[in-house]
Order: sequence, then structure tokens, then C-alpha cells
Amino acid sequence: MNRNKELAELLFGHITEQPEYYEEKYPARSLPEGAPVTRIGPSPTGFVHLGNLYNAIIGERLAHQNGGTFFLRVEDTDAKREVEGAVELVISAMDFFGIHFDEGATADGDSGSYGPYRQRLRKDIYQCYAKRLVERGMAYPCFCSEQELADMREKQIAGKLNFGYYGKWAKCRDLSFDEIKAKIEAGEPYVLRFRSNGDEKNHVEVFDGIRGTLNVSENYQDFVLLKSDGIPTYHFAHVIDDHLMRTTHVVRGEEWLATLPIHVQLFDTLGFKRPVYCHTAVLMKMDGGTKRKLSKRKDPELGLEYYRSEGYAPKAVWEYLMTVLNSNFEEWRNENPDAPIDEFKFTLEKMSNSGALFDIMKFEDVSREVLLRTPASEIYDEFSKWLREYDPEFYEIFTRDREYSEKILDVGRSGNRPRKDLTSWKQARQFLSFYFPETFKIEDEYPERVSAEDRQEIFKRYLETFDFDDDSSEWFQKIRDITADMGYAVKPKDFKKNPDMYKGSVSDVSSVIRVALTGRTNSPDLWEICHIIGEDEMRARIERA
Ligand code: GLU
Repeated sequence: MNRNKELAELLFGHITEQPEYYEEKYPARSLPEGAPVTRIGPSPTGFVHLGNLYNAIIGERLAHQNGGTFFLRVEDTDAKREVEGAVELVISAMDFFGIHFDEGATADGDSGSYGPYRQRLRKDIYQCYAKRLVERGMAYPCFCSEQELADMREKQIAGKLNFGYYGKWAKCRDLSFDEIKAKIEAGEPYVLRFRSNGDEKNHVEVFDGIRGTLNVSENYQDFVLLKSDGIPTYHFAHVIDDHLMRTTHVVRGEEWLATLPIHVQLFDTLGFKRPVYCHTAVLMKMDGGTKRKLSKRKDPELGLEYYRSEGYAPKAVWEYLMTVLNSNFEEWRNENPDAPIDEFKFTLEKMSNSGALFDIMKFEDVSREVLLRTPASEIYDEFSKWLREYDPEFYEIFTRDREYSEKILDVGRSGNRPRKDLTSWKQARQFLSFYFPETFKIEDEYPERVSAEDRQEIFKRYLETFDFDDDSSEWFQKIRDITADMGYAVKPKDFKKNPDMYKGSVSDVSSVIRVALTGRTNSPDLWEICHIIGEDEMRARIERA
């Protein structure tokens, strides 16, 4: 037996399969030519962020709009960062946003023939390929302790040299078989390192589906393949998994660009076909005039849970992310205002490769547009679901009479200048509260220009002249009459021109009635509100005022 084979047996005697076994077990997928296979690979840390959804949408669209497959792989190699229930959390967050996987980890086990889809369950697979690398002389055990590595780094700093484990610094590179054997028998812990023949002066071309052809320096570091517990690093797991799961497009954040040379070196060394990398830009936001990365600590909108608890409609989040993702989306939406978003053809070519700006104001605008296009019955269902979880008291009130509640959702939404009153369920809960006797309250001040006496006079006359059967213009004419009678200007313009001639204008008079009926100085059409809450409730509110 040659030395490498002997070493491979020493390290991985328990591995009996050959890589060929896995190559056969996970054959090329039978999909139409060019159909993408994509995935997300979240780590179960308990925090699912907007970037996860952003990348998931790209992968999902690429696969599902082109006859491909999209799957979920749980990247749980870092047990220290794992929290309980985190896998379920990722799955339910993705489900909430309508992201469906064709295969992968599910709440109860795995589904699909390219699994297991949880990295910790794939230990033997990684070790099988690691063993082959050792046999080929491409990997070796390294026994350097934390302290030795820290000392090495000190010396590298002092000598202004590149950091890392390479060249003459790679102490364990040339240990003899007997030295290794002795250390292993003495129970010394070790990691498995890749033996790199790369040179940083050489460049490698890598194709990126978003950024085009990249020119990266060759990797010259002997990086770690397996940690001391035999679990792979991200680098090794990514290459083995995406090869065996036959991923064609690796969509991931740009933080992986720095280690891309390692990944392509592994693909090439192992003789695997490289995937198309799609490195997405980090999500940024404007903060006091400067752009910065969204931060977990400062920006609640980075966590996906935020959208659920604030009650943003998942499809509003999709719609907004699509405007960020594809530069031609807004134009398409203008031309197809009512088309389901699925009909928009997402492409990598229309993605920008500079920082993606997440603008919460713009997001809210998009959200209002989306809700405006959503039928009241659908809003009713979604909103009720949210209320049941986040505001059970208002849930009881809101769902008491479906017909009534659907009507209030439609107020002001027809005509050519429809109102966009709703942004999120949390905001809707506040906004709609005045329609219900239990939650109605006076929130704003009455207009200053109207004296308390005049206010009472306005109420009195309003009640005297009110007729439920008046149409909107008859109703408003009566308000105008009260206005003129009481010395206010019927045209706000007149009052502006001659403020001394009037006590105020028709807008002050209507505002008095508005505050009494809705509690606010700003509301949808008052005539419509009177007809929705009904004559009795309307009279009761004015009486009380
Ligand atoms: N577990 C990696 C992360 O959460 C996945 C990166 C990838 O998709 O390859 O960043």
C-alpha cells in the first residue's frame, strides 16, 4: 500500500464506501435541458432574515419559472450556533411568504431522493470524499493547536506577511506517516486540511450569473476541510452537497465572494462541474444621508418575523422585493396592474450587482398599492387571521359581522382616485377602529377656529337637517347652508382672501362633524361613513359630542 492509501485507512478506516457509490446514488437529474436546480442553505440560528427571503425568491423563481427544482438544505455544521426549533422556524417563515420547496428538509423529516438534506446527517458522505483526497495526497491531518496557530499569526503580523496556513508555515504538511500515526495513537486532536498547489499570483475565471465573469486569485492556503469532530467546514460541505444534489445555480450572499477561490479549487480538484454562482448584493438602507448595511441590532426590518408581527401582507413583501431584484419589474407592473406576480418573468440579467437598497418608505407605498388591488374578501380573511393571533379582542369585534367589515374595507376604494388607506394589519387595526362603537374614540382636536358654542350649534343644526335618504351632494349642500348661515365661508378660497370677513370656512365646519363622527380630522368620505355606521350610531356620536 502506498503511504497516502495507508494514511487514508488510518484516518478513515470506518469509511467503506467509495465516492463512485454516491455518484451513482445521486445521478444527474432528469430535467429538461437547462432547467435550473437551486436551493437555499440557511443555518438554523433562530433568526431568519430578509436576505434569506431575498435569495429564496431568486432561487425559487429561477427553478419554478424554468422547469427546474428548488430545495431546502439545512446547514447545521456549526452546532454552537444552533438553537432549538430553528429548522421549523425557517420552514414556517418560508411557507408564510409562499416559498415552496420541491424537496429538502421538512417539519417532519426529509423529502426527496438527494438527501439527507441536513448536513450533520451527511458526515459519512463528506468523509468518503475526504478519504479520497487523502488517498490522492490532496489532504492531510493537522495537529496544530490554537496556541500554535496564534503564535504563527503573531509572527506573520510582525513580518508583514500574509496570514494563514500555507508554504513554510504549514507545519503539518510534511509529517511522516509514523509521526501522524504516533500522534493519533496518543489521542491528539486534528483537523483535515486541503493541500493547495495554488499560487496567489495566478488568476482563475469564475462565471457569476449576476456579476458576469470574475477574475479571482488562486487559493494558496491549506484551508480546513473537516474540523476536529469530523464535521466539514462550510467550504467543503458546500462543494460536496451542491455537487451531489446537482445544484446548477448557487444563489448566496456576496459575503462568500472572498472564499470563492477555495470553492472553485475544490470543484476543480474533485473533478466536479462548477455551478453558476449568483452572488447577491448585501441589503443596505439609507440612514441619515448615508448608505449602510442593514443591521440585526438596529433594524427590526431585517428579521422576517417583523413582517409577520407587523402584519405586512406576504405578497406585498414579494412585490417590493421584486422591484429591488429586477430593474424592469416596475415597468411590467405599470403595464399589468392586475396580473398575478407569478406572470412576471424574473431573470438574472436584470439584477443589479451593486448594493440593493431596502427603502422602508417605498416598501410601504408598494404595500398600499398591493392592498388596494386586493379584494375586500381576501383582506378580510388575511386580516382576521392576523388579528386572531395578535389582537384577539379586536378580532371578536371585527369578525362579528363579515358583511359590515368587508364594506368598511372598501370605503373610498372605487373611482379614479382611490384611497390607499391600508398599509399593514397593525396599521389597519388602528385605522379602522372608528367604525366600531367599542373602539371609537376622539383622537384629534376640534378645529381651533370654531368656538365651543358654534360647535354645539353646528351639531344641533346638523341633526335637525340630516336625512338618511339624501344623496351625497344633497347632504353636502346642507353642510354648506349651515356654513353660510353661521358666518363661515362656503368656499375656503374666499376665507383665505378675506380672513376678517369670516369665522372660518366650510372645511372647519365639516371638520367639526368629522371629528365628532370619526374622532379624527382626516378620514374617508363622511357621507359614506354615515351610511355605513348607520343613522342611529351616527346620531348617538353627535349627541355625545
Ligand atoms: N449557510 C450559508 C449561509 O447561511 C449558506 C450559504 C449558501 O447558500 O451557500 O450563509
